[in-house]
Amino acid sequence: MNKATEFRLEARPHIPEAIERLDVLANDLFYSWDHGVRSLFARIDLRLWQKVEHNPKLFLRRASQTRLNEAAEDRAFLAEYRRVLSSYDAYLESDPGEGVVEALDPNTSLVAYFCAEFGFHESFPIYSGGLGILAGDHCKAASDLGIPFVAVGLLYQQGYFIQTIDAQGQQVARYECHSSDELPITPVEKDGKQLTVSVPFPGRDVHARVWQARVGHIRLYLLDSNTQANSPDDQDLTLQLYGGDSSTRISQEMLLGIGGTRVLAELGIEPTAWHINEGHAAFQILERCRVAMTNGLNFDTALEAVAAATLFTTHTPVAAGHDIFPRDLVAHNLGSYLEQSGLEFDRIFALGAKNGDDSFNMTCLGLRGSRFHNGVSRIHGRIASEMEGDIWPQIPPQENPIEYITNGVHVPTFLAPEWASLFDIQAPTWKSELLNPAFWNFVDQIPDYHYWSVHKALKQQMAEFTVRRLKRQHKRNGTGHSVTERMTRQLISPDKDALVIGFARRFATYKRATLIFSDLPRLERLLTNPDYPVVLVFAGKAHPQDHPGQQLIKVIHGLSMQPALMGHIILLEDYDQAMARRLLSGVDVWLNTPEYPKEASGTSGEKAAVNGALNLSVLDGWWGEGYDKTNGWAITPRDTELDQEFRNREEARDLLDLLELEIVPLYYNRASQGYSKGWVTRSKASMKTITPRFNAQRMVMDYVRNYYQPATHQGRLMTANDSTVAKELADWKARVRAAWEGVSVTVKGCVQDRCAWDESVELKLSVALNGLAPEDIRVECLVTPDCTGTHAEPGTDRFILAPTDEEDGHTIYETEVNPPYPGLQTLRLRIYPYHKALTHPLEMGAMLWA
Ligand SMILES: *Cc1c(COP(=O)(O)O)cnc(C)c1O
Repeated sequence: MNKATEFRLEARPHIPEAIERLDVLANDLFYSWDHGVRSLFARIDLRLWQKVEHNPKLFLRRASQTRLNEAAEDRAFLAEYRRVLSSYDAYLESDPGEGVVEALDPNTSLVAYFCAEFGFHESFPIYSGGLGILAGDHCKAASDLGIPFVAVGLLYQQGYFIQTIDAQGQQVARYECHSSDELPITPVEKDGKQLTVSVPFPGRDVHARVWQARVGHIRLYLLDSNTQANSPDDQDLTLQLYGGDSSTRISQEMLLGIGGTRVLAELGIEPTAWHINEGHAAFQILERCRVAMTNGLNFDTALEAVAAATLFTTHTPVAAGHDIFPRDLVAHNLGSYLEQSGLEFDRIFALGAKNGDDSFNMTCLGLRGSRFHNGVSRIHGRIASEMEGDIWPQIPPQENPIEYITNGVHVPTFLAPEWASLFDIQAPTWKSELLNPAFWNFVDQIPDYHYWSVHKALKQQMAEFTVRRLKRQHKRNGTGHSVTERMTRQLISPDKDALVIGFARRFATYKRATLIFSDLPRLERLLTNPDYPVVLVFAGKAHPQDHPGQQLIKVIHGLSMQPALMGHIILLEDYDQAMARRLLSGVDVWLNTPEYPKEASGTSGEKAAVNGALNLSVLDGWWGEGYDKTNGWAITPRDTELDQEFRNREEARDLLDLLELEIVPLYYNRASQGYSKGWVTRSKASMKTITPRFNAQRMVMDYVRNYYQPATHQGRLMTANDSTVAKELADWKARVRAAWEGVSVTVKGCVQDRCAWDESVELKLSVALNGLAPEDIRVECLVTPDCTGTHAEPGTDRFILAPTDEEDGHTIYETEVNPPYPGLQTLRLRIYPYHKALTHPLEMGAMLWA
């Protein structure tokens, strides 16, 4: 018998006029953080809403006409519809946040933010993990604050993979195509048709279509190569996020960096500050240099002008997180582009070279093509300075121009609506107080029983969600009914109210998901104590090419199926933003055990804290700053010089000690009221100290003040009057670079080793300038109390030595120093090239010590 071909047909409803603006709401990612919008859809048809996985556009295509008509006539629904719309309209009309206009005048400045992934909501799957969610949160906060801002990224037809875990614990990756009309995007039109841009590739141009997504006040532009104008292979370039091989990757990055910059140019958008968020987008530097050169600048001048207006953020100290391409691949892929642009391959290649390797490192390109650079937590800023120190070879890493801004999370997105409602009653202005730590003391005023009842309700929802998902996945795998019952029993037993610990994030090996299993017999006793049961919930995806990561999933799956541990270890498949919101807001403890110092920031713990869950984490990334002894628990990482296995064992023991001696006893120290007072105190401490510090508004305002405003200023300075200053600076740098090897410095005479407290010491240096002018260098003396290191540290005093004389072709610099400290202090003398137009005084990376 032959089989009938099936033809799929979708009968789309009309949206009744009374509720027609649902369509507007479905096309603005405002819905990703506004619970009111989402509940409108859920209210019309909850089952369908769940079935379309919270995708408003898909929902409006599939909803039944009857349901829509009923909603359009339901007075209660209409009242809610109007309330939501008026809050949406008020949001769009709201003024910029405090200090924004002063820093960035929206009439004259604009920030462009480039990133390879954006995680706004589960309905828009163009993210894989932390980086994407962070980028989404950054855009959302930029919208909330009314920052003049556009974002640029790629649209992946299949996005990141959908994960299932089979009966053997094997991760199975599946890709699903998403058509553009089910995503919250619209084509960008120009001259009556969809805008496309093209980028020269070897032997051909690759074309990209341009889309836009609305994110409240701001716009995100996305490029995809899925157009008939391209060959079938090129159409697939933007098929998957982090898919394909390194040739796919470099091609995607050319589209993002070069194509993305062309999109803005086509639309007449002229950013004044450019933010490259992680190395994937760094090729934009080349395109901006090319454009500057068409205006008559040489490459060096163009680079000065471009770099001065650019910020580069690095996000990981893990080697696999940095794109490194072989020379041949770069030469081949960029060849046509460079040729058509008049850019020299060797000059470009040098921008990405590291340690004399014959490969091209996108992080180095980002760092050399920008004058502002940051890591994403205090610890990571320091580590990045050390890792990337050779970009500024003569500068002590502590002083090189990599600083940090600690990541924060978008509170409206991740705060459970139940908490938001409670805050609305307790402290109605809380939404505008996210930058005010003192305000958050209001959390202490919430009665404990009320506080706990919100947590309990969320925990209940989390448990129901977990059970539903677990049953679905085990039913598919053919697990028996009685087994799934046992697996879920601990979680749903109301009289026990077991302590629930969550661990969910990408299964990258440095995150050490299995650290807690290091001493299995001890852990088993701890989890299965009948009076004090503990449940561990795990979830996360491993990159399809990360086999060690997938092995972790297998191990956890195996443990979760062991009869003795069953019900105490739960592994959920297909972690995404929807699951994140459920788990983070429902667990009691959020666990993170990264291998120090590899967790650049981490943000999921911040989301947990905002929702009252307590962090139990290695002091790495944001937790290194967030932990204050009262607001969670910390595992102190062992010295990185020690053997890795030894470190794992020691840190695992700390983890189990904390659980056994502090966390479990505190949680179960319930009096007659049914909850632990001590626990609530700690949870409140966590919520009130972490929410106002580790949120995305604080983060974005730090970016505005530390980088966007200065980059706008520097960029203008460089390019004013036909780029006079950029030219001057580029020429000056060339002169300094040529002369520097022949520059030397010696102390003249001897420096006194004692003086009276109120006397001063005379310092004299003799410098061979090798043709440079006396003003081309800065000569300084650093004074530090005590003899600590060889570098300038906070608390160091600086004295500038001025040129006074010439002797035998050497220039003499001198000053008198009044000892700034009583008693013993260390004086160190150094010189470095200096020009007033430099963005950072040490950006040339040159320095000599006397
Ligand atoms: C916040 C978040 C992450 C990042 O988690 P970390 O623990 O910081 O790595 C990853 N995925 C999703 C879905 C998230 O919401």
